[in-house]
Amino acid sequence: MSKKYRLTFLRDECIGCCACCSLSDLFFKINEEDDFPILKDFGSYKNEKMTKDYFDENIKSALEIVEMCPVGCIKIENLDKKD
Ligand code: SF4
Repeated sequence: MSKKYRLTFLRDECIGCCACCSLSDLFFKINEEDDFPILKDFGSYKNEKMTKDYFDENIKSALEIVEMCPVGCIKIENLDKKD
């Protein structure tokens, strides 16, 4: 059974460096109005905090973009963790 995880993007902390861009098309698209990333399929690019849930097929790529981000504005939370 697939595990579920939550990706949170703190857009107000993003500096638009595009270090994540090579992998980000799984999760992000570039907002043409300001050239900063936004989460795909997210309602409004004006949100400062964007959160979306995924299953683990792409968790490796998600963890890579978390590592790449120089300001730590992408977070991953395991929703199946039972503590
Ligand atoms: S790596 Fe981080 S700071 Fe740079 S564009 Fe991506 S989300 Fe923004």
